[in-house]
Amino acid sequence: MAAMSVVISSCAAQAKDKVSADQHIEALIAEMTLEEKVGQLTQYSDVGDTTGPLPDDETQRQKMDMVRSGTVGSMLNVIGLDDIRTIQEYAVEESRLGIPVIFGFDVVHGYRTSFPLPLAEAASWDLAMMEETARIAAREAAADGLHWTFAPMADISRDARWGRVMEGAGEDPYLGSEIAVARVRGFQGEDLSAPDTIVSTVKHFAAYGFAEAGRDYNTVDIGTVTLFNIVLPPFKAAIERADARTVMNAFNVLNGIPATGDAYLQRDILKDEWGFDGFIISDWGSGVEMIDHGFAADGEEAAKLAILAGSDMDMESNVYAQHLAGLVERGEVPESLVDDAVRRVLRVKAELGLFDDPYRYIDEARAEQVLLAPEHLDAARRMAERSVVLLKNEPSLLPLKQGERIALIGALAGDKDTPLGNWRGMAEAHSAVSVVEGFEAAGLDFVYEKGADLEIGDAGFANPVVVNTDDRSGFDAAVEAARTADKVVIVLGEDARQSGEGRSRTRLDFPGVQQELLEAVHAANENVILVVMSGRPLVLNWADENVPSIVQAWHLGSESGHALTNVLTGAYNPSGKLPMSFPRSVGQLPLYYNHLSTGRPDEIPEVFWSHYIDEENSPLYPFGHGLSYTDFDYSGLSVAADGSEVAVSLTVTNTGEVAGEDVVQLYIHDRAASVARPVRELKGFQKIALAPGEAREVAFTLGPDELGFYNGRGEFLVEAGLIDLYVGGSSAASLTQQIDYQPRPASE
Ligand code: BGC
Repeated sequence: MAAMSVVISSCAAQAKDKVSADQHIEALIAEMTLEEKVGQLTQYSDVGDTTGPLPDDETQRQKMDMVRSGTVGSMLNVIGLDDIRTIQEYAVEESRLGIPVIFGFDVVHGYRTSFPLPLAEAASWDLAMMEETARIAAREAAADGLHWTFAPMADISRDARWGRVMEGAGEDPYLGSEIAVARVRGFQGEDLSAPDTIVSTVKHFAAYGFAEAGRDYNTVDIGTVTLFNIVLPPFKAAIERADARTVMNAFNVLNGIPATGDAYLQRDILKDEWGFDGFIISDWGSGVEMIDHGFAADGEEAAKLAILAGSDMDMESNVYAQHLAGLVERGEVPESLVDDAVRRVLRVKAELGLFDDPYRYIDEARAEQVLLAPEHLDAARRMAERSVVLLKNEPSLLPLKQGERIALIGALAGDKDTPLGNWRGMAEAHSAVSVVEGFEAAGLDFVYEKGADLEIGDAGFANPVVVNTDDRSGFDAAVEAARTADKVVIVLGEDARQSGEGRSRTRLDFPGVQQELLEAVHAANENVILVVMSGRPLVLNWADENVPSIVQAWHLGSESGHALTNVLTGAYNPSGKLPMSFPRSVGQLPLYYNHLSTGRPDEIPEVFWSHYIDEENSPLYPFGHGLSYTDFDYSGLSVAADGSEVAVSLTVTNTGEVAGEDVVQLYIHDRAASVARPVRELKGFQKIALAPGEAREVAFTLGPDELGFYNGRGEFLVEAGLIDLYVGGSSAASLTQQIDYQPRPASE
């Protein structure tokens, strides 16, 4: 009883705090000039030398004057406690109303401690671990004075040509939703006002991952069935289940309307239907881009269209700062809309506790302790181990055995920078553990030969990447090392700068002369283990045909080399599963497992079935695929309906010699519906650990949320009818049963 009254009084205290915060916000809005209101909706970057004292150039000086006059509400990319403190002092102590600035940064897969790329983490299917890494990233960013990350990217994508697939959770909306929820919870924690949690942004709203031909920023033209069933669910989940406090809109045009100016998406769906009460930030300059899109005549119209559509804060395009006040004064934009946007921004600042203490994130002693703490690196290693996917092991060369002499080959094996990947936050360049270092630490018997450089032209991070393609001078030494070894471990793939924003590719092969190196080494010694470091699925056909063991290692972060060594030696038994289909050819893209039937499936080849004349339809490795050093058996699938719920259970047995983890996956296929449904859709998964010989019952519950779907008008339908269930270790799972689903209230 006593405990309960404490809970009740703390809820009452929170409610009171909320009332007083709301009153404070309303009082501020009542007092603000129009310019000050627009200021709260304006975000600028720090472009100066962030190591020097502010301000350090004319642009920066102008921005600081704006902060002092209360006409900048937020800044991004300001790094360092000194700079953050200085700017916050300008805002709080010199501006008329003393409203604190909110500082944002792209904390995507770690801050100083680097975790695997988001796509790699998605391959772990380990939600608790993903929440933990986001938590740590938040703790480190907060210790450096930051309040807000522009992550997670919740864009579903089916096209590996798009460079930003590295930043997402892959092709599936169910997995993508679960991951978006885990990441937002990790960043925001239980209590946003705690100074080690940060505001999360789900981005990019919406459909940015469907850029035509995988070319970044390109037009998106998708139907509303895809929009409601594939694109929007991760955003809805992040908002409804994890209370993501901000959403970023997108650069792209969707069905003719630039996302930043799309009132249907932002006002009707996000704010009105879903009840989102945080704020929407534009993407970088996406307001002004609406002019080039041919949607706004000029900056003034861009500002008008964006605010009318519900885009609350303008990142960097300056259209609000220049035009919004004038638009309100002339009656073209109701001031109430500006007030609503300001209220949303101030609410998030209040939730962070910035009105109570604007310097609460600034604590030098804490920064010392928190950044790169040993337990953070430990989590980075654990996450990296779980992100690796064993694609092939036949005949099995893995795990490596004691006493084997290994030739370790490839520039990426010695690379201490690429594992940090793109969108690397504040990870120090060249600070990752390389595979060479991992092998050394494990005391393996190996020689290292680079073979060929994966040299990137001196282009800087923001510029196009040039790969040196013709230096074969290291081939002979690599071939010689292979000839005299028991096994070859060759590490090939993409440099960190070959995936990420603006890094679309038309060829998904190994850049440079790496494929030639692989073939030369293989000719000298067939016992090849290929380790692929990349930010996206690559086309691995030759390797699949010729190389016994293939390991997908993405870009694994700070602890890359240790984690990979543990996987290769069996100290960690791989458990990752692909979050994206791996194509056989670029010509298959977009490629995804949850496609509709063409009506001409390949079981009936005597008619004109839908196919290519020069390649199979299927992916090389399907969604959900990933091997282990043990085997799992699935049996005893049983299904029972109770009201609108369907209980599914099966037994999973570890039939091999070593302990391992499996991701048990449940797929459905709705046989006939008022909107054609995909041939398979993931609707549940569980990651379980089993000792050798151990069997475990795994249970799932499917209800209307899993068995229903959206029609093209965005209405959620739950229909009766036959549904096939499939369970197993990938989207190719074959253990199946059919149910006749008759939804009705459970109480009936
Ligand atoms: C990206 C966003 C990112 C922003 C700020 C843009 O170019 O599309 O995802 O948050 O830059 O860095």
